Amino acid sequence: MKKRLMITVDGPAGSGKSTVSRILAEKISYMYLDTGLLYRAIAYRAMQHGISIADDEALRELCDGINIPLETCGDMRVLIDGEDVSDNVRTEEIGMLASSISAVPAVRDALLPLQRSAGKHGGIVTEGRDMGTVVFPNADVKFFLDADVDERARRRYEQLIENGGNANLDEVKQGLKVRDYRDTRRTVAPLRPADDSVVIDTTGIDVEGVIEKMTIIVEKHARQAGS
Ligand code: C5P
Repeated sequence: MKKRLMITVDGPAGSGKSTVSRILAEKISYMYLDTGLLYRAIAYRAMQHGISIADDEALRELCDGINIPLETCGDMRVLIDGEDVSDNVRTEEIGMLASSISAVPAVRDALLPLQRSAGKHGGIVTEGRDMGTVVFPNADVKFFLDADVDERARRRYEQLIENGGNANLDEVKQGLKVRDYRDTRRTVAPLRPADDSVVIDTTGIDVEGVIEKMTIIVEKHARQAGS
C-alpha cells in the first residue's frame, strides 16, 4: 500500500510558499491546507464584530465556527459559521490583523486540533509558520522557504496589482517587515525552520525551479517510504 506523505511548508510572507504548496499538492494529487487562511478568517470576523485581540473568550468562540472542506486539491476554502469567507480575507489589512491575532495563545490552541485532524491521514501539503515545528513535528518532509525581503515585497506587490488592487511597493515592504518581526518574535509557535527541515532560498528562482527542487526531495522520501 502506498504511504501518503505528510509534507509541511513554512516560511515568511511572500516567500512563495502558498503558490508552490498549491502547485506541488496538485502535481502529486495531495490535499492542500493553507493554515494562514484560518488565521485570516478569524481576523476578518473579529474585525467585522469589533472583537478585541485581548478578548480570548470571544476569539476562541470564533475558532469554534471554523470549518474547512478538504475533499479536493487546488484552492482551499474556509467557512466561518457556515459562510465561505475565502475571497474576503486575502488583503494586506487582514494579513496584518491575522499576524496580531495569531500571537494569541488561545487562538493557536483552538486551531491546533482542526489542523491536526485535517492532516491525520497524510497525503497532504500543509503550509504556514509552525507546520514543521509545532503542528506536525513528525511530518515526513519539511520545507522552509525564504527569500530576500525586497524580492518578497515585489512579488506581493505584483500579486496585489494583478488582483486589481492598489498598492505601494514601499508600504508593502514595511508591512512584510512588521509581520516578519511579529511572526518570529512571538512567544508561542514563532516562525523558524524546524531542525530537520530543508531550507530553500527562493530569491532569484522562479516557481517552476522551486517546485522542481521540492519534487526531487519528495520523490526521494516517497521511495524510502516504499510508495
Ligand atoms: O500565510 P498568511 O500570510 O496567509 O498568514 C497570515 C498570518 O497568519 C501570518 O502573518 C501569521 O502571523 C499567521 N499564521 C500563523 N501560523 C500559521 C499560518 C499563519 O501564525 N500556521
